[in-house]
Amino acid sequence: MTRILAVANQKGGVGKTTTTVNLAAGLAESGKRVLVVDLDPQGNATMGSGIDKRALAQTVYHVLLGLATVESVLTRAASGGFDIVPANRELAGAEVEMVDLEHRETRLALALERVRERYDFILLDCPPALNLLTLNGLVAAHAVVIPMQCEYYALEGLSDLVNTIRKVKQSLNPALEIEGLLRTMFDPRNLLAQQVSAQLEQHFGAKVYQTIIPRNVRLAEAPSYGAPAVNFDPSCKGAQAYVQLAGEVLKRAGLAPEPARA
Ligand code: ATP
Ligand code: MG
Repeated sequence: MTRILAVANQKGGVGKTTTTVNLAAGLAESGKRVLVVDLDPQGNATMGSGIDKRALAQTVYHVLLGLATVESVLTRAASGGFDIVPANRELAGAEVEMVDLEHRETRLALALERVRERYDFILLDCPPALNLLTLNGLVAAHAVVIPMQCEYYALEGLSDLVNTIRKVKQSLNPALEIEGLLRTMFDPRNLLAQQVSAQLEQHFGAKVYQTIIPRNVRLAEAPSYGAPAVNFDPSCKGAQAYVQLAGEVLKRAGLAPEPARA
């Protein structure tokens, strides 16, 4: 069974892309077949996977507009051991161009149907907005991974996202769940971070991943080398946290890690 996870939070810069590529690499390391779909015109997941976003003839934009199939667009990440459907700025146009199309919210879900059986996990890196691209991600997914920084406004933003997930569940995707909340860029010396983290656990209980991603400069450096930190510097604290997260995600999916494939 394929598990499709949308990595979403409309707040910018909370670690969605870092989580997507490093979780993908961590799951691949556990022997799982993984596809990443870059749903952000910024193309950060694409660049962070070692793919030059400026040199692409076709991207997820063409898939969403029905101009190409996922098979024809996907490519292999330079390192990381996963496949990726890349994106670049052209995707910004899809927002507008899809508005008049039929099934505009379900286009990604339909496009993924043809390839999903080839993967154990499909991770969707959503843009920092509750827009039509994110909506396509939420409709295509089984569950949502919500990366968040433990700061004051984080909880406020979270209720908007939870409401959106509830609405999508009521209308277009009844099976949608929250997979988990992930504390990112965590600094244990910061008192507010500790307080917000405790509130999160109180409110969301077991939905909060036990794994906490620390603030770690290697995670921020890795994209400039076109590799997830999990591959670029496996011994750094950030990489180790993401490998631990992959273990937790496997456990929640009822799967055990397998020895890595050659
Ligand atoms: P956007 O909303 O723009 O898509 P995002 O939610 O995808 O952003 P990232 O791009 O993953 O967030 O992270 C934002 C910035 O913080 C990036 O420069 C990234 O390298 C850095 N970063 C992410 N996680 C960490 C971490 N745990 N420690 C240090 N830096 C991090
Ligand atoms: Mg991003």
